[in-house]
Amino acid sequence: MEKMQFQAESKRLLEMMVNSIYSQKEVFLRELISNASDAIDKIYYKALTDENLTFNKDSYYIKVIPNKEGRTLTIRDTGIGMTKEELENNLGVIAKSGSLAFKSENEIKDGFDIIGQFGVGFYAAFMVADTVTVITKSLNSDVAFKWTSEGADGYTIEPWTKEDVGTEVILNIKDNSEEENYDDYLETYRLQSIIKKYSDFIRYPIKMDTEKS
Ligand code: ADP
Ligand code: MG
Repeated sequence: MEKMQFQAESKRLLEMMVNSIYSQKEVFLRELISNASDAIDKIYYKALTDENLTFNKDSYYIKVIPNKEGRTLTIRDTGIGMTKEELENNLGVIAKSGSLAFKSENEIKDGFDIIGQFGVGFYAAFMVADTVTVITKSLNSDVAFKWTSEGADGYTIEPWTKEDVGTEVILNIKDNSEEENYDDYLETYRLQSIIKKYSDFIRYPIKMDTEKS
């Protein structure tokens, strides 16, 4: 008898994810911040073994940037970034964790900080965003790339320009609906309280400019 594989129905899986795995939409920020922190940790681990790489604590941080006019929320990190291949493998395949792979490749045992393992957290972004754009430059690449997705219908990747190594995740925040006030996710005070609630333990600075009124 032939053994058949289940088809991962990405579209349905994504819808299910977005609507039911997380009880509260606000946790999207915890997921994106933990990915940013993991990306910085990866540079930190590389620096432990690579004498050409120094880890200067002050150069590593996460920045949360709401833009009400543009209706975008950006999460920027100075972490390890992604190559084109990593974009395809880690963001293009649901339930594939680049962090889990990194831990085994580098023989990192339990007790370290890298949080990611299930390969689904990133997609929480689609709970609050209708388009997600990732601009990233890997430590191991001279070129940067832009990944864009509206969720269910797949994604595009194109070469882009970015000076510094790291990643920017740009969320086009959804319009308000009767059930959810998405505008909230562009308010500095609201973002601050979500960060305090879920990301207080993150060991890199999480910066946010104070609101100009
Ligand atoms: P997990 O964190 O459990 O691995 P995610 O769905 O949150 O799963 O992310 C999938 C993968 O995408 C990560 O493991 C990582 O390899 C990559 N990734 C996501 N966000 C970033 C980022 N800001 N910088 C670098 N790589 C990232
Ligand atoms: Mg994650």
